[in-house]
Amino acid sequence: MAGAAWDAFERRMRELVDLGGIAGVIGWDQQVMMPPKGAELRAHQSTALASLLHERVVDPAFGEAIEQAEAEPDSLDDARRASLREARRDRDRAVRVPADLVRELAMAEAEGFEIWQKARPAKDFAMFRPVLERLVALKQQEADAIGHEGERYDALLDAYEPGMRLVRLEPLLHELRDGLVPLVAEIADRPRPDVSFLARDFPAHMQIEFSERVMRDLGFDLEAGRQDESAHPFTSGAGPYDVRLTTRIVPGDPRGSLMGTIHETGHGLYEQGIVGKKIERSFAGMAPSLGLHESQSRLWENQVGRSRAFWEHYYPAYREAFPDALVDIELERWLRAINIVEPSLIRVEADELTYNLHILIRFELEVALLRGNLAVADLPAAWNDAYRAALGVEVPHDGDGVLQDVHWSGGAFGYFPTYTLGNLYSAQLMEAARRDVGDLDEQFRRGDFAPLLGWMRKHIHSQGSLQPAEETARAATGKPLEPANLLAYLRAKYGELYDLA
Ligand SMILES: [Zn+2]
Repeated sequence: MAGAAWDAFERRMRELVDLGGIAGVIGWDQQVMMPPKGAELRAHQSTALASLLHERVVDPAFGEAIEQAEAEPDSLDDARRASLREARRDRDRAVRVPADLVRELAMAEAEGFEIWQKARPAKDFAMFRPVLERLVALKQQEADAIGHEGERYDALLDAYEPGMRLVRLEPLLHELRDGLVPLVAEIADRPRPDVSFLARDFPAHMQIEFSERVMRDLGFDLEAGRQDESAHPFTSGAGPYDVRLTTRIVPGDPRGSLMGTIHETGHGLYEQGIVGKKIERSFAGMAPSLGLHESQSRLWENQVGRSRAFWEHYYPAYREAFPDALVDIELERWLRAINIVEPSLIRVEADELTYNLHILIRFELEVALLRGNLAVADLPAAWNDAYRAALGVEVPHDGDGVLQDVHWSGGAFGYFPTYTLGNLYSAQLMEAARRDVGDLDEQFRRGDFAPLLGWMRKHIHSQGSLQPAEETARAATGKPLEPANLLAYLRAKYGELYDLA
């Protein structure tokens, strides 16, 4: 049944997947291994590879290969149909944007990133404003070129979260906000846990050693991946048998390296699990959305790695690894320290609960920018107002305010909600796993994470992109995406930790 048309398409698809894997490795190398003087050369190499990939995708011959393979439905199983669906989606998006606009965007994004790197430490929004204005205008043009049904945001969101639309996302996020804001306010009235002991000496090499132990225990295969250090933790690599994770030591806070490792391990376990002859080296062998990918990192980091059961297992060994720092710190104090809720200014340092409010602020603002309801010039004031309203914090300067994230400087509008979608998915998946594999807490207490991983492998990882993200999650959980599970989980967990009524 393997038709000639499928074979011709598959050859092109495999080349694209392989080139993507090479891009993953040289991107990793740039942040982990490359000597500083290699930067300029690497920029040329990365650009050359990106243009090659783009040319192959917009090549009319690739379009014909997709069409011809689609025209032989008898030669297609579900995996092949999924690869074709993904190929068509990517190609349609790519060919609709005129070459001039692609070039202008690439230039504005490179310039945006360069200026942002200077504007943030200088706390100078005026420096960043002209390029951000240009980026917003170009992204509006890009959205119009790709096509949408009245919401430009949809066309951009679709790049990260295929199939998600504002009309569905907005009410979901508002319902979440309406549940979170009063919970954060209740917690703010409770005594603040004393976390001063975190500033004690936690030797860096012991932090790395412990994080590697946890990574192995959770099921990360070090024969098919590795962990190194980088300025910002991330997951990359060449494919499921070569997954590169990074972590970092945060001076004065031992939670950073361990929680960073567990987060990236969640991404890495997902990558290592997208295997099977049917989907490997194909478009079906990729995660269907960033939100679903993020569900795996957040599930292992928050729902597992910050849980009482997890620490009932690990805390004795953790204390032994840092005997001086933790001599007088009991498990209860440690649990409160790794789960402290604190309205703050900086998203990447935010806790599990308020993190979503940071995302909601960005989401509202970027939707308004794309709709043309908010001028870039008014963005800093709108940002500061939103932080006051949602988190009760005053923004002292734009460096710790509107300039803190890299995303907009590189034209990544529509990316932020994928973080919160990850939290929503993770809560629903965890509930379904509890239903199917029994007492997870009891298993964690024994250091047994295999049943949970096995469930994720079966229902999420091995499914690749056979179905779109929400369909994959719906098949696993029996429910559409909704905020109820996340809110119930957060209320129960923080209700106990903070003695709420
Ligand atoms: Zn992540």
